Amino acid sequence: MAIDFIYPEYEVVRNPQRCIACRVCERQCANEVHSYDPETGTMRADESKCVNCHRCVTLCPTRALKIVKTDHTFKYNANWKAENIQDVYRQSGTGGVLLSSMGNPKELPVYWDKILINASQVTNPSIDPLREPMETKVYLGQKPTKVERDGRGNLVNNLSPQLELSVPILFSAMSYGSISYNAHASLARAATELGIYYNTGEGGLHEDFYQYGKNTIVQVASGRFGVHKEYLEAGAAIEIKIGQGAKPGIGGHLPGTKIVGDISATRMIPEGSDAISPAPHHDIYSIEDLRQLVFSLKEATEYKKPVIVKVAAVHNIAAIASGIARSGADIIAIDGFRGGTGAAPTRIRDNVGIPIELALASVDQRLRDEGIRGNVSLLVGGSIRNSADVVKAIALGADAVYIATSALLALGCHLCRSCHAGKCNWGIATQRPELVKRLNPDIGSQRLVNLVTAWEHEIKEMMGGMGINSIEALRGNRLMLRGLGLNQTELNILGIKHAGE
Ligand code: SF4
Ligand code: SF4
Repeated sequence: MAIDFIYPEYEVVRNPQRCIACRVCERQCANEVHSYDPETGTMRADESKCVNCHRCVTLCPTRALKIVKTDHTFKYNANWKAENIQDVYRQSGTGGVLLSSMGNPKELPVYWDKILINASQVTNPSIDPLREPMETKVYLGQKPTKVERDGRGNLVNNLSPQLELSVPILFSAMSYGSISYNAHASLARAATELGIYYNTGEGGLHEDFYQYGKNTIVQVASGRFGVHKEYLEAGAAIEIKIGQGAKPGIGGHLPGTKIVGDISATRMIPEGSDAISPAPHHDIYSIEDLRQLVFSLKEATEYKKPVIVKVAAVHNIAAIASGIARSGADIIAIDGFRGGTGAAPTRIRDNVGIPIELALASVDQRLRDEGIRGNVSLLVGGSIRNSADVVKAIALGADAVYIATSALLALGCHLCRSCHAGKCNWGIATQRPELVKRLNPDIGSQRLVNLVTAWEHEIKEMMGGMGINSIEALRGNRLMLRGLGLNQTELNILGIKHAGE
């Protein structure tokens, strides 16, 4: 019906002087944008199907293609922007919830970009990381509040189980099912090579990946898909997922069409059945209930694994974290409102939750004020884009960061935000065999190793510039940060001074 017509968001611009009608773009596009017209011997494009994933642009042998945003427009209205109008058309046509993928794309403040890092000058000289030792290793887990010695003066080693990381970066939870086998293989291999960790997400652990268990965090989410004793024992740590930044307060839904073959076996649910994770864990309605699950998991794994509790960054996150720190959990993972996902209701993704920068600063401060900061390590995620974000997060109080979108970008993701359609042209957020094979795990893992290695070099350079030679000395060192263009309330929450002060 005419009311439903929505002009395509992108236009495919094909240079006829360069196009040789090789049909590469047609073969590469799972969205079936390109087609060959035998009558004219030329290529055509159905732009209504284009998600702007750049696969065709990247592989066109003659650089004949580019994708541009359409300049077709509605009459100017600062309140009713095109996306507001079109969403109303879509929903009044379907009666359905709008779905999106990846993180919140709205123009909301990115505090990382309003925080500047210090550097030493004259006194407290900087350190040259190429010539002097620089420690990036961190341990995640509960820390003792005091040093204890036995009757003979020997140290009493009653340290809880710890995760050892060569660099304070982990690959965040992405389930097998939401991402492909080859994407998981790339993450698992890279984590092993780097001496860090990747996370199964809520989809269970494919039997092929048990070999990477020492570098695996196994997740227990509300749906308990794929959770059994061997699964819990396989990982180096167990993560209880209460919430995630892209969709705080709601559960998850992997459609039955994606529950096929190995994914069905790994999740331990029948082929074709929808994998619906409830919004809450039905056995957790209080910190005491959470404590029971934390200790059930510790008991099941003989107190050998740290337990992480992952929550979304929401308004009263400091009080929530205070409760979790008393639940027996070893690590709290907090996911900010820009965190990615395979599929989320658009309104939830774009309007629920708070920025990780504010959540992290308020949680770290609250735990310090209450004298329980050592009870837990803090892991934060939700759009950590580069090594400077890592340094700022650690200076604000994090022990380490989770990255996911950055990791997917390293694997070839072009942030088209269409993962929920299951037709990822880069072989990442798809289960279609012909697409999955486009991602070579050998290349994927090497690119992830390169990314984290590059960030490690940059982290060392920034730490050296500050005259700091270990992550431990940087953690919570907010004197190394200054705000730019922030109001006093924002500065107070972040616990930093304004630039120039
Ligand atoms: S890949 Fe490039 S050269 Fe080949 S048909 Fe498409 S636009 Fe033309
Ligand atoms: S993973 Fe694939 S579908 Fe998802 S945003 Fe990236 S390129 Fe697009």
